[in-house]
Amino acid sequence: MEKVLEIKDLNISFHTYAGEVKAVRGISFDVKKGETLAIVGESGCGKTVTAKAILRLLKTPPAEIKEGSKILFDGENVVEMDKKRLLSYRGEDVAMIFQDPMTSLNPTMTVGKQIMETLQIHKKITKKEAEAEAIKLLKLVNIPNAEERIKQYPHELSGGMRQRVMIAIALSCNPRVLIADEPTTALDVTIQAQIMDLLKELKDKFGTAIILVTHDLGVVANFADRIQVMYAGNIVETGTKEEIFYNSQHPYTWALLNSVPSVDTKSKEELYSLGGTPPDLILPLPGCPFASRCEHAMEICKEIRPEETSLSDTHKVNCWLQHPDAPKVDRVRNLGG
Ligand code: SF4
Repeated sequence: MEKVLEIKDLNISFHTYAGEVKAVRGISFDVKKGETLAIVGESGCGKTVTAKAILRLLKTPPAEIKEGSKILFDGENVVEMDKKRLLSYRGEDVAMIFQDPMTSLNPTMTVGKQIMETLQIHKKITKKEAEAEAIKLLKLVNIPNAEERIKQYPHELSGGMRQRVMIAIALSCNPRVLIADEPTTALDVTIQAQIMDLLKELKDKFGTAIILVTHDLGVVANFADRIQVMYAGNIVETGTKEEIFYNSQHPYTWALLNSVPSVDTKSKEELYSLGGTPPDLILPLPGCPFASRCEHAMEICKEIRPEETSLSDTHKVNCWLQHPDAPKVDRVRNLGG
């Protein structure tokens, strides 16, 4: 499948009073046309930082995309784009929808004006044309009475409606990649499902690739094609949805899967919780980043970083347990069985 984005050796640091926080550590991956790639991991693993870097939305300083990092959109390095090119890239090539539409939308402008503004910047069309296009977009994201809704302010809409408006704005310039950063966290469960269904419908209709940044494995199970698991700024495992849910090979992926409540989970005590805390990203991490929390850690894990092992064309894992001399371990309580 055609690649629309290629990330190569991406390193991102934050310069703080305490020292240099190496938030993303030499990750490489690609996004293919029309697929949904989910990036999962706990808070602070680098997933949102990576997503923002793809759109060059990180504030520099304190953030710094290190030399040698490449974010290639159709072969063009986003890291080197000038301001003018960035303006068209954001929106026309890659767009983003954020977690909380209330803070992303301007409360002092009607939603119609906000959609029209984006259209007029990118498409150089008249006000009348932009208004007609805004109504069309609101209908596309299933907002009823679109002609009336465009005159309303964000606070007059429900949370689900606001997120639909955000999606309409993101889609207004037909981007080839849509980044959705925890798009349903602020919404209740039924609305969550409607928003995710809408994203899927639009992806199928327009062939837009989606990067879904989330900690919600339920959403991932329903909507992702491929999954990338991040831990402490590293990608530790990547695979198709089936490979990750039914044949994951990294102990951190097992921990993530095990911490999802199932219908059989009767009490809080039955719910698996991973002990310990992620490593301090200011300190050097010579070995496996998960070593301090991994129940299968061996001596080598603390000293030498595991190389990537390919288990199939799509399934890659970074763990010393893949070494032919490593002990065989059982995947305990893995959801895949
Ligand atoms: Fe655990 Fe070692 Fe694998 Fe890291 S490399 S996940 S510490 S077994």
